[in-house]
Amino acid sequence: MLLGAQRNGPVTPAGSASGGDRTHGAGAGTVPGLVLLARGGVYRVELAGGETVEASLRGRLKLERRTGDAVVAGDRVSLRLSEADGHTIEAVGPRGSEIARADPRTRGRRAKVIVANVDQIVAVFAHARPAPNPRLIDRFLVLAEANNLPAILVANKSDLAEDDADADADVFSPYAAVGYPVLRTSVEVGTGLEELRARLRDRSSVLTGPSGVGKSSLLNALWPGLDLSVGAVSEAVNKGRHTTVAARLIPLQGEAYVADTPGLRELGLWGIDPADLDLCFREFRRFVDDCRFARSCSHTHEPDCAVRAAVEKGSIDPARHASYAALLEELTERAAGV
Ligand code: GDP
Repeated sequence: MLLGAQRNGPVTPAGSASGGDRTHGAGAGTVPGLVLLARGGVYRVELAGGETVEASLRGRLKLERRTGDAVVAGDRVSLRLSEADGHTIEAVGPRGSEIARADPRTRGRRAKVIVANVDQIVAVFAHARPAPNPRLIDRFLVLAEANNLPAILVANKSDLAEDDADADADVFSPYAAVGYPVLRTSVEVGTGLEELRARLRDRSSVLTGPSGVGKSSLLNALWPGLDLSVGAVSEAVNKGRHTTVAARLIPLQGEAYVADTPGLRELGLWGIDPADLDLCFREFRRFVDDCRFARSCSHTHEPDCAVRAAVEKGSIDPARHASYAALLEELTERAAGV
């Protein structure tokens, strides 16, 4: 789904992923827009020509905002423009995708949608400074799988890799082996930048990863006109009480958007049934049906578990299985309300 292609299109009535008819009152006199940032009741909206305006929600949508997430970054909206009374968002279009995280205010048990209509997750890590954390890589990949979104792993600072010849044996290589695209980049040397640009073009991507791995530097290197201050990604909207969950879309050239989602850093894996976690580890899938207890096998202790047998045989990376077990425990505790 291409946000750029959609933003000039009509906002379809009803059928929203969040349910219900949310388009009441839209119609004549409105223009389409794309929400770039939703913060404190103020919405920065991009119009078809690229101009941005600030708008508020009309009354009915405001009510929904209290109970859920009426409007988030990435939403396509109908806007009533009025310099005199203030611009208002009249209606929200249906969502092609949503990314939610646990809401810290409800001790992690209620979802908070942080961004809508993204096409892929681009998880950025560094070869070093900071060292990559495989557990965190796995969390991002699980989030992508659970949301049915393709994921790409960017391994930045390749100039700091211990030994270039050893690239096949580093933290990132098991991910390439199970089919995730791994782009090795270096802003310093200019490696891999064209390929990353091609991957980001014409779509909306969640760009995520720990701080300091080079997300802002990569975007600046790819689109110098952006002029993001180094360290700007994930920090600009990360101030104040509720803003750790605020996301913003950054328009790039050529109808590309990246969603900066600071809330994903302390990722709550909301909405994943513990029983489905095994399917979010893509290389487990071909084994899960062969366990003696089939779909009720947790792949941690049961006899005749095909997944653990695959780990023993070397077909599944033991570190991935350990990540799975740790996440399973976390999800199970949450489901039990611990
Ligand atoms: P962010 O927090 O992920 O946005 O990271 P920044 O873009 O702010 O970069 C953090 C630091 O890493 C800065 O000092 C950059 O100059 C440095 N950096 C970024 N990319 C590279 C790279 O490819 N190689 C090296 N050696 N340093 C990099």
